[in-house]
Amino acid sequence: MENCLFCKINNGLIPSKTIYEDDLVKVFLDINPATNGHMLIIPKKHYENVMDIDKDFITYSIDLIREKIYPTLKEKLNCKGLTISQNNGLGQEVKHYHIHLIPRYENDCDKHTYNEELLKPIDEIYEVLTK
Ligand code: 5GP
Ligand code: ZN
Repeated sequence: MENCLFCKINNGLIPSKTIYEDDLVKVFLDINPATNGHMLIIPKKHYENVMDIDKDFITYSIDLIREKIYPTLKEKLNCKGLTISQNNGLGQEVKHYHIHLIPRYENDCDKHTYNEELLKPIDEIYEVLTK
């Protein structure tokens, strides 16, 4: 879709630090992470939110998270948990369906506010995840 930021990322018109990609999905690091390794899963096809997303995409994403992404995050970043969230309407900045994957670490959060002091440079995280 024209003028959609994440369609542009899908098409390579805007660069992204891609962790995984196939015909159906793209997984890349969030430019403004809540924690180290915060990434987004997006469909290659444009959907806006939970109201129009293909249910098969959700199943596909859960399988991908279980089989590939979460094990990789545990192994390479030593995270102790994974918060999965998805915004719709108010609170949704980018109107192309996306699932947030937020790796969790001991003491990374106080009253729902993530500790920015724990953040490492995105390039460093990208290297660890892709090497
Ligand atoms: P939302 O609020 O729509 O659920 O989340 C949108 C997310 O997209 C935010 O966490 C934001 O940091 C991320 N984001 C916005 N623009 C870009 C971009 O150009 N590149 C990347 N990698 N992430 C982006
Ligand atoms: Zn789009």
